Amino acid sequence: MQHRHAKGGTLVLGGGFAGSYVARLLGKDGCTIVSRENFMLYTPSLPEAASGTLEPRHVVVPLRMMCPHADLVLGEITEVDESSRQVSVDTEAGGVQLEYENLVVALGAVARTLPIPGLAEYALGFKDLADAIALRNHVLRQLEAADSVVDPAVARRHLTFVFVGAGYAGVEALAELADLVRDALRYYPRLRGVEQRWVLVDAAAKILPEIPTRLGDYAARQLEKRGVDVRVGTTLDSVEEHAATLSDGERIETDTLVWTAGVRATPIVGHFGLPLDEKGRVKVSPTLCVEERENVWSLGDCARVPNEATPGQFDPPTCQHALRQARRLAKNLRGDPKPYRYRMLGQVATLGRHKGIADVLGLRFRGFPGWFITRTYHLYQLPLITRKLRVVTDWTVGLFFRRDIAELSMLGHTGRPGDD
Ligand SMILES: Cc1cc2nc3c(=O)[nH]c(=O)nc-3n(C[C@H](O)[C@H](O)[C@H](O)COP(=O)(O)OP(=O)(O)OC[C@H]3O[C@@H](n4cnc5c(N)ncnc54)[C@H](O)[C@@H]3O)c2cc1C
Repeated sequence: MQHRHAKGGTLVLGGGFAGSYVARLLGKDGCTIVSRENFMLYTPSLPEAASGTLEPRHVVVPLRMMCPHADLVLGEITEVDESSRQVSVDTEAGGVQLEYENLVVALGAVARTLPIPGLAEYALGFKDLADAIALRNHVLRQLEAADSVVDPAVARRHLTFVFVGAGYAGVEALAELADLVRDALRYYPRLRGVEQRWVLVDAAAKILPEIPTRLGDYAARQLEKRGVDVRVGTTLDSVEEHAATLSDGERIETDTLVWTAGVRATPIVGHFGLPLDEKGRVKVSPTLCVEERENVWSLGDCARVPNEATPGQFDPPTCQHALRQARRLAKNLRGDPKPYRYRMLGQVATLGRHKGIADVLGLRFRGFPGWFITRTYHLYQLPLITRKLRVVTDWTVGLFFRRDIAELSMLGHTGRPGDD
């Protein structure tokens, strides 16, 4: 077992949005980040990576480039021992014990699943880059399958796509993938005339609950105009290999059910002995210090963060909040901790086909201006100028050339001789 001391005494668990920004903002003070991957995933661009508008590599930012003053330990965090101030990590080179003075827990969230029959077996997730590539491949495979069958009912089933969860992830992924299918179908002359069906299901009374009502209604109208069947106030009852049944009793023949109905704190956080709320999130004080602790801090999707600007409410699980919390925490770790306070400046979402919605400083934009503002905002937020340039290049190429419809199913290949 290897023993190491965290750089600058600060150990950051998780190289996602929150953890990577804390490390970046600590700058030359340095820290050690423990992460499964050597990159930070810019999740708002994941739907575009799935649809092929963006090259998947361009929606991730290498941690060593983003946080040049931090040490990186790649591996799986298995244990936190507060009495000896050590964290155990499984790495490719074996077990490592990392000692800290300050610990930052930023382990994010996992998909929240429910005990719905068939969900675990047949639903597809949409949480990380592997999910995005798998979903893209699956959708392209459905076109191939539809093209090769004789029975029109089976072809229709392959071209039926059901998304459960109408938050950012579900709405943007559906809109982007519907664009991919529309563009790809020009190469499938046999499928002309075969009906496609896109269904968006949510238990809530409206889609995009985070967005002001008028913009949310506009988004729903836009999707409906394109033929998306928006089912609000509806839940998923069961999933089978070739069908999904909704709470209104309809059984939809489909081979694609995408589950994006919410997240819950990463379960391992519950094994660290830290105070948790009823949703399994780490309870922190307004300074982002874990309650009843002095040297353990938490933020992002795995934490229950009170916000001075919205008394009595806790922050929702979004990048915008994770980033603002990271700014406060980096300052607090340097000394003289102050309470976290952030008033949201706006919300943005794309709806595919050069349409979007944006609510910025109380001004509301929709259609093309909404889409343009959404893209500009994400470009501004994406760290590193080299990443921004790659994304702009992808978008520019997308304006002039047809979308790439190559399937990348060989990504699970091990690369070992004989593995084919
Ligand atoms: C598809 C999708 C689209 C989204 N779109 C938007 C959007 O448009 N706008 C918006 O504001 N928010 C959006 N979000 C939400 C946003 O991504 C999260 O709120 C944000 O990523 C939270 O940051 P975090 O650091 O807390 O968690 P994460 O970014 O999830 O990072 C947690 C990290 O911890 C790592 N980890 C967990 N367990 C371990 C372990 N045992 N060992 C080592 N590492 C571990 C994970 O691998 C991950 O890298 C979206 C989310 C998804 C999934």
